[in-house]
Amino acid sequence: MRIFIAGLGTETNTFAPLLTGAAAFEEGGVFRGDTSAACEGLDGVVARQWRSLAESSDADFCEGLFARAQPSGPAVQAVYEGLRDEIVDGAPPDADVILLHLHGAMVSTECLDCEGDVLARLRRRFPDAVIGALLDPHCHMTDEMLSAADALVLLKHYPHTDYKERAAELLDICLRAANGEIRPVTSVFDCRMVGFYPTEAPVMSETVAQLTQCEDRAGVLSAAIIHGFPWGDTPETGTRTLVITDGNAELGQSIAEEIGRNLYAAREELLPSYPNLDEALKEAQEKEGRIVLADVADNAGGGAPGDNVSLLRAMLDREMTNAAVGCFWDPVAVAFCADAGVGATLRLRLGGKCGVSSGEPLDLDVRVRAVKADHDQTKLAGSRYPFGASAWVEAGGIDVVITSIRSQTFAPDAFTGLGIDLATKRFIAVKSSQHFYEAFKPIADKTIFVATPGALQLDFATLPYKHKRDLDYFPRVPDPLGHQSISIRSK
Ligand SMILES: [Zn+2]
Repeated sequence: MRIFIAGLGTETNTFAPLLTGAAAFEEGGVFRGDTSAACEGLDGVVARQWRSLAESSDADFCEGLFARAQPSGPAVQAVYEGLRDEIVDGAPPDADVILLHLHGAMVSTECLDCEGDVLARLRRRFPDAVIGALLDPHCHMTDEMLSAADALVLLKHYPHTDYKERAAELLDICLRAANGEIRPVTSVFDCRMVGFYPTEAPVMSETVAQLTQCEDRAGVLSAAIIHGFPWGDTPETGTRTLVITDGNAELGQSIAEEIGRNLYAAREELLPSYPNLDEALKEAQEKEGRIVLADVADNAGGGAPGDNVSLLRAMLDREMTNAAVGCFWDPVAVAFCADAGVGATLRLRLGGKCGVSSGEPLDLDVRVRAVKADHDQTKLAGSRYPFGASAWVEAGGIDVVITSIRSQTFAPDAFTGLGIDLATKRFIAVKSSQHFYEAFKPIADKTIFVATPGALQLDFATLPYKHKRDLDYFPRVPDPLGHQSISIRSK
């Protein structure tokens, strides 16, 4: 049995101002054959899991290209094609099982379904291999992906904490399929919704538990919610449910519809309703204890630039001292701080550089408290993510982290790694929609998600879709399943 693994991932915000070129992949991590040994990021977590399980099953194992870029605008076509072809052409001709770590919401300047394209090309080259992909739940589920792959396994949790478990699940399904023990059949139910679904909230945590219970039923191999990525404009953008059974499409369809209809029934409750800047900061000042504020809309993890200063400006206006705010992507500002040196005071223009969603910049009198050439932070599943050269500056009683590599804020070491003592802070503001939550929970007396200005607006009814096929989705219309024929696909 010969297993080949590879990976290609970025989450494309088609409304974001920047493109994703070669440098974005180099920055995010490109590995050729040594991902399991050398990658500290999520591709390394997944590759190591696949390697250790493959070796324990005596399978022959080889690694191809893994390339991952921070979410942003569409990938440059030539860059995407180069990476795609390296994966497809790099697979050994005698591969029995091909496992890919993809995202599922990658769009290039000329292709709205990069994952479907990669999988279809592999399928044409390897008509008899078992092909499986590990996907992020913020993906778009396309017919091309479904027809080209034998198994698509999705992360169940948001924050995404289950990479190792789902990687193991995909390997197990694909190995058993290659051995002729099972015949995976996938069923997908279209919920006709666009939304945002953190899984620690009541309805979603129950739904995740329901997925796991379904997998205990005879013949069910995997069950998942396709959250969809609202800020990626593609024909298939939207929420789905997915069930893989052992050759039983009828069972898969009934479970997919049951879970999907439960979600649909809770659609009003699932709509995010976060306070605006004024409401959120007023609430934060009135509450006791340490308050963590999430800058939801300027989240680099959803393709936003990460340089909108609206929340910081509002905190300064309200004199919310004893606070830490991060992380701003502003390499120019970092360079100015590094050149000025630790202890220097200077007038610094921060943020507002990348486009309309970045808003206006902020001119601050700052003191440089620390500069680090290779700052980084803990990411998901124990992986790490680099920030590059970074600075800690203090302005108006607020400690601000500025970085050279764009990333959402995942963990407290984004601050403490520069020397900021979070234990003494009354307010901590992070640029992230959700992935920060687990790591900050132990130090937060209260977390407030703030509907800030920025690239990730949560009013899903008014997103300016041009490619999305079904525009009669919730919340754009109140009850789309009430008057539509139901869409269930199986393959
Ligand atoms: Zn995701």
